[in-house]
Amino acid sequence: MPDNGVAWLDEELDRLKEAGLYNTIRTIGSPMDAWVVIDGQRKLNFCANNYLGLANHPRLREAAKAAIDRFGIGPGAVRTIAGTTSLHIELEEKLAAFKKAEACITFQSGFTANLATIPALVGKDDLIFSDELNHASIIDACRLSRAQVIRYAHNDIADLRAKIAANPTTGRRLIVTDGVFSMDGDIAPLDEIVAVAEATGCLSMVDDAHGEGVLGEGGRGIVDHFHLHGRVDVEVGTMSKAFGAVGGMVAGRRSIVEWLRQRGRPFLFSSAMTAPDVAACIEATVMLQESSERVERLWSNAALLKSELQKMGFDTGLSRTPIVPVMLGEAPLAQEFSRRLFAAGVFAMAIGFPTVPTGKARIRVMNSAAHSQEDLEVGLAAFEKIGRELGMVG
Ligand SMILES: *Cc1c(COP(=O)(O)O)cnc(C)c1O
Repeated sequence: MPDNGVAWLDEELDRLKEAGLYNTIRTIGSPMDAWVVIDGQRKLNFCANNYLGLANHPRLREAAKAAIDRFGIGPGAVRTIAGTTSLHIELEEKLAAFKKAEACITFQSGFTANLATIPALVGKDDLIFSDELNHASIIDACRLSRAQVIRYAHNDIADLRAKIAANPTTGRRLIVTDGVFSMDGDIAPLDEIVAVAEATGCLSMVDDAHGEGVLGEGGRGIVDHFHLHGRVDVEVGTMSKAFGAVGGMVAGRRSIVEWLRQRGRPFLFSSAMTAPDVAACIEATVMLQESSERVERLWSNAALLKSELQKMGFDTGLSRTPIVPVMLGEAPLAQEFSRRLFAAGVFAMAIGFPTVPTGKARIRVMNSAAHSQEDLEVGLAAFEKIGRELGMVG
């Protein structure tokens, strides 16, 4: 085959491999659950964002099957052209009610929800104030909008205020932040951010991907956690994490939701969630509304993991949520730790630069409501064994 100028790709791929930054993706041969089958072997799953253990729940599976029988599989075309199913409308209404928001619109994913929203709200004469650690989908959405992006120091309200004061404009202004920051598990001070937005006339937007189904009463999310109902203009969420399926949403001001149905490009130019996904998300919403038991189990599991890991002498960082980072320092050590955990039957990913700063490599332990106490004990015993092997635990 002629080269066509792509030889650099092979060189770049080799460079990634040499630097230990090449993504090797495990092949899973089972449902996403507390345990998964990898290469024919059962492994304890500490990797998934399946917070509530709904990804393989019988009620979601049944709902998805029933939806296939009634609506088939594919949506046929985008909703503005081929219409939308009654299921999609039902999900949007249920989500708005669950989140105590004026209205809700769904998207194919949390990523596309951000891509739809930010460019629909601000453009080239406008300003965006963005937390420096915001998720990649917010960063890309900001770039697509062509607004000027002004980054403020992570969770630093004084810096946010100073940046707003230093950048007067006649254009529109948007403040955007992750709700829960996924690598450290810390929470944005949304109450203070909203107060700044109200005092300065900026739009406020939070991406609550890791708070959806986790924070607030019964998992209603970060707006509920801070009792800010009706005061946050845009609440982006995902159904790809705690809701156990796949999909994105925007809840908030009715006029913004209506505007996104007219001007959100991923809504206008990309087909909708499939019927089985939507039905599974409806069932997840119903289950969350019925009981907060799964949310409570998630938090008590995480508390147990954190306290036992700390007793062994591990540093579990600054997390205020069920995300449990085990701080290890250098990337090669984190990779070796993860490799040994896997050999001991525990699937837990090492995370290094550029996802986290150099020297702050870690293993991020993601438990779920599907993990039993015995499961957690299996995982903790593996951490203790490997910590001892590597001379980190007394
Ligand atoms: C996971 C995540 C997303 C992407 O959600 P998907 O539904 O998987 O596309 C967006 N924003 C944040 C903050 C996330 O953590």
